[in-house]
Order: sequence, then C-alpha cells, then structure tokens
Amino acid sequence: MTEPGTPAGAVAERATAGFRGRYGAEPAGRWAAPGRANLIGEHTDYNDGFVLPFALPLRTVVAAAPQDGERWAVWSELADSPVEFGAAEADQPGGVTGWAGYVAGVVWALRAAGHRVPGGRLAIASDVPVGSGLSSSAAIEAATLAALVDLGGLDLTDDRRPRLAQRAENEYVGAPTGIMDQSAVIRCRAGHALFLDCRTESVEQIPFDLDAAGLAVLVIDSRAPHRHADGEYASRRKSCERAAELLGVTALRDVSPAELDAALDRLDDEEMRRRVRHVVTEDQRVLDTVALLRAGRIRDIGPLLTASHASMRDDFEITVPEIDTAVEAALAAGAYGARMTGGGFGGCVLALVDADAADPVAAAVTAAYAERGFPAPAHVTVLPTGGAHRLP
Ligand code: ADP
Ligand code: MG
Repeated sequence: MTEPGTPAGAVAERATAGFRGRYGAEPAGRWAAPGRANLIGEHTDYNDGFVLPFALPLRTVVAAAPQDGERWAVWSELADSPVEFGAAEADQPGGVTGWAGYVAGVVWALRAAGHRVPGGRLAIASDVPVGSGLSSSAAIEAATLAALVDLGGLDLTDDRRPRLAQRAENEYVGAPTGIMDQSAVIRCRAGHALFLDCRTESVEQIPFDLDAAGLAVLVIDSRAPHRHADGEYASRRKSCERAAELLGVTALRDVSPAELDAALDRLDDEEMRRRVRHVVTEDQRVLDTVALLRAGRIRDIGPLLTASHASMRDDFEITVPEIDTAVEAALAAGAYGARMTGGGFGGCVLALVDADAADPVAAAVTAAYAERGFPAPAHVTVLPTGGAHRLP
C-alpha cells in the first residue's frame, strides 16, 4: 500500500498504458471501483444483521473498449498472462478459472440476467491489495461491471448492480460472500459510510466526514498469514445458524440485546453462547455507531470500535496475535478506537485517529511489531470516498 491513499490518476494511467501496450489502441473509457473497509459490524452479514462499510481511496481501474463478436480479452498488471474467452466459457460457471474468472463472472451474470453484453478488451490496474480483506475482488467486479454496462448501453441502475456482482463471485467464481462488499464498492459516497441492513438489503448513507472533523482512519495491513480462515469461517457460520434454530428465530438478528441473557440461558454450549453474544452485541454496536455518526459525534465511536474488537477476540475468537498487537499499539499511541476489520484470521486493522496522529500511531504499531518479531505491517491513511464510477 502507498501512503497516503493514492489519487485515481496514477492507477488510471497504468490501466491506460497497459491497454495501449497490450492492444495497440486507445481505450474507449476508464472505470474505477474502490476497495472497502468495514467500519463496524463483523460476521453480522450472514446473521441478517447490520454492517457499516466505507469506500477507500485505493482503486481498481479498468480501461476498456468494445470489440466485435462475443469475445473478451483481459489483461491485468497483477497477472502473469492475459486471458481470452468467448460466450461458451462465459456461459459456464467456472468456465474461466483464476483471476480472470472475476471478469468472466460479471459477463456471465449480465448475460444470465438477459443483458446483451458487448464483446470487449479490458486492461486492469489496481492499488487495492489483493487478499488483505479490503475487497479487491469486489473492486474488480464492480469496475468491470461499470465498464460493460456503459460500453453496451445496458439498463442497470446502481441499486441492482451489487446483487449481480455478488452472483459473479458466488456462482461463477464459487466464493461464498455476502452482499456487503459489492454494495460498498458500488454504492458508497464520499464522506459517508454505508449503513446496510443485510436482511432487507436497504442502504442508507451515514455522514462520516473525517476530513471536516480533523480525523482520519489508519488502515494497517497485518500481513498475518491467513490461518485456516475458510474452515473457521464455515464453523462460525454453522454455529450461528444452529443457535438461531435452537432459539427458534430466523436469524440471530432477531435476538435483541434485552433478550440476550434469556437466550444465552437456553443454550448449553459455552462456545455457542459466546458466538451468539458477539453477533447480538455487534449488531447493537453498529446501531449505536450509526446514531453517534448521525449526531456528528465521530470521535465518540472510538470505544464502540474497540469493544467490537474485544468481542471478536474473546467471544468470536477470530483474531490473531499480529492483529491484537496492532490494535493494542494503536490504542496505546492515542487512537480513539481500533479494531480488526474483515472476516478475521489475518487481514487489516483500522484505527480512528486525529489526522496529524496517523503517522505516529503507524510508527507505534510498526515498533510493536518489531518488538514481537513480526514482519513489518503496511499501512495507509484514508478518508471515505465514493463507489464505482466512470473516470473523466
Ligand atoms: P480480497 O477481496 O480480500 O482482496 P479475495 O480472495 O476475495 O481477496 O480476492 C482476491 C482475488 O481477486 C485475487 O486472487 C485475484 O484472483 C482477483 N483480483 C482482485 N484484483 C485483481 C486485479 N487487479 N487483477 C487481477 N486479479 C484480481
Ligand atoms: Mg474478496
């Protein structure tokens, strides 16, 4: 990651240069989609609950032009070799494997929804770190989708795009994800966080103008290796679903904080009780965060962020030593609040800081890492930006 969040200019230039170099022509346009961080609300999505992501000033840019026939050519600066595919591969989920499957999946999802997708040539550049939990996958999907919709003059409003990009990832690539990532990278607005109800999929823009408040979010990439993340995710999910069944509710979202103690009394398994407590209290922390942001009290969300981290560490048990070290060091260095963001077992930490404290807090985290013998973390200071769009 670069410091601070890079402007769209440099990455857009790389996409354009890549297009020229690969195809010997000028692109018809360029489309950008951001990475995202979840401010609060972890493992609440598949429990029909609440999340509050915001878009990052780190972007994936697709430079593209139409071509005749149902053929697509894709090049990425992050991949060893370009990929070409036709309608036959696009129409078969899994027909294109590897990184280009995210692009083919978007073609598939559009075609499956009845759209006439134009053939195209695409060149992709990105500042979103891959596999760090900042959703480079949703960024490549959303930028590709925006490009194909514009090139083909397709009728697909923003509110219908997240579901389509999610289908590309779930059904074509075969990666099970909720609706948060695609909603965030498509629908977020600058200076706001996106309050998403994962049951109804309704969204609301919540003021989160860090800049005006003299604040910033420091995003620290823990660089921790993802340890058994898939299996651990599946077991957490199963535990939550089983608990909902035992409690006779559709999802844990239906257990209110007032009902929590009574609900816990009805569960025998101590581990399951901790999982339930995390989800129920986390949903409430999202609602409390939204209320504070609506009241313009950004600094006051700090303790909620930190409480969310403690709940992930102690009740949901999804943090790792690198992550806990980053959170503790950031808090000790004066952050208002800090927490792991993303599914866990690695990934990133975010810390709410005064804008001029971002560097010293990052330095404190780096020093704490060195003391523990961890490889140095990467970091970037960010303000909330907007979702996918065409670049001028
Ligand atoms: P995350 O979304 O947290 O970054 P994922 O595992 O969900 O991690 O998605 C990462 C995958 O998305 C990469 O392994 C690659 O296949 C694909 N991808 C994302 N961005 C790009 C890109 N700019 N170029 C090529 N592939 C990309
Ligand atoms: Mg992803």
